[in-house]
Amino acid sequence: MKTHNPATQMHRREFIEKSAGVAALAATGPLAIGAAVTAAAPPRTRQTIGIQVGAGSFVDEGTDNVLGILQERGAVDTIYLTTFTYGRGLSGRQIPGHPFPDHGVPESDESFFHGGNYATPHAEFYRDTVLKHTRAPDHGDLDIVATVLPAARKRGLRVFCSLEDVFRSDVPGVKEVAEVDLQGRRTGTLCLCHPDVRAFWTGLATDLCQSYDIDGILFFNERNGPLLNALGASHAQSIASSRVTCFCAHHQRAAAERGIDFARVRQGYRQLDQFVQAALKGERPSDGYFVEFWRLLVEWPEIIAWDRLFDAAKHRVLAEVNAAVKRARPGLEVGFHIEHVNSFNPLFRATRRYADLATKADFLKVVVYNNCGGERYANFIRNVGSTVFRDVPKEELLRFNNHLLNYGDEAKLDQLAAAGLTPDYVFRETRRARAGVQGQCKVLPGIDIGIPTGKNSRQASAEDTYAAVTAALKAGADGLILSRKYSEMQLANLAAAGRAGRDAAKG
Ligand SMILES: [Zn+2]
Repeated sequence: MKTHNPATQMHRREFIEKSAGVAALAATGPLAIGAAVTAAAPPRTRQTIGIQVGAGSFVDEGTDNVLGILQERGAVDTIYLTTFTYGRGLSGRQIPGHPFPDHGVPESDESFFHGGNYATPHAEFYRDTVLKHTRAPDHGDLDIVATVLPAARKRGLRVFCSLEDVFRSDVPGVKEVAEVDLQGRRTGTLCLCHPDVRAFWTGLATDLCQSYDIDGILFFNERNGPLLNALGASHAQSIASSRVTCFCAHHQRAAAERGIDFARVRQGYRQLDQFVQAALKGERPSDGYFVEFWRLLVEWPEIIAWDRLFDAAKHRVLAEVNAAVKRARPGLEVGFHIEHVNSFNPLFRATRRYADLATKADFLKVVVYNNCGGERYANFIRNVGSTVFRDVPKEELLRFNNHLLNYGDEAKLDQLAAAGLTPDYVFRETRRARAGVQGQCKVLPGIDIGIPTGKNSRQASAEDTYAAVTAALKAGADGLILSRKYSEMQLANLAAAGRAGRDAAKG
């Protein structure tokens, strides 16, 4: 295990800050070609450009080769290195069934993709959790952080470890800490109230911050509460109102502490399940779908209380990860990925305040993916338009929702997937986040570069990417995070992002 030496670290940081100041005076900065090689870390006031990269890309294309491409073409100064996930969104090659980009190995990795911790887990940090064995086997003994970090430092790049709450059910310990659904069945997702799960996330963050000389952590948690899951109120889910979570013993105890009547919670969610299932069959309540839904919330306030409890547990984990990082090494940064549903869904928006999230993080990565955004937004409208808002023609529902969310002139519903969302959408959502955080933390919009979409949906182009990056920076973003992963991006689109970043830096 590498041990961290605070004295050396302090010296290095002072050096970086001084070097960065000199670089700024030289009017080159991290966005100029090759400047980051000599400029070390960028000064805080500049608009940083980061990119999400998984371990597989470095294995397939060579560590230094990838870093060189990212710096030269993408004007990248920060690597968000996927270090923990069992998901394919941030890790692995292109998702099976979608065309490969013009770099990397154009073969499916399905035969060996597994996921887990791509660094080296050190046992002492996982004493208080059953989740002790998460080492990713995909690339043998490779430790991706130990591999990438020194090469990135040589080029003056910052490195953050990305951690994502996506598991698989065959991971040792998962069954013991899994959520319990409305029917009492164990699921494949982890209960955020469970002490072992909380200890896992703080242990993992502490391990990475103490064992490696990284710049911080970017934490991904896209989990929704039971109310929104019951309605299918995200873009990417089927409506499964009888499978909502979490009804485990830890959640029941938390309910008791808050004076929430657990028996009424279950009754309320059963009522909601019946409403949703009837709505999906088109069985219209005599007072209409929306009135019946609102009446459920009025008569069963426990539905909202239980959803709030889920959110409270999720946000406690975020706060605990932040605290663990600061304890491990003061000065390291913590960022949270803010999921796309926070943009589309007014019900979800109402359960979050940017100002509150900003107190727990140094930066928020706000998802403003505009290419796949069209397809996703259309899915969301169809989901809520099949239950709560079933009485409203879907085209009108889309227009109405655009007004609620302050979206501008976006495509009609039947053209939305093919059209994608506009750069104006990127601008508006960036500006909203900037206003929301009230200066308490940085806003780094997540820019969509080639996130896979359906055959007839918008595909990323260099022009789109240039426009989206420009819009986000014009809206006052503190920087960007190119998403979701390098292994799905075309190089021309990456270069367009870099060009837009350099052009913005020139003013
Ligand atoms: Zn639970």
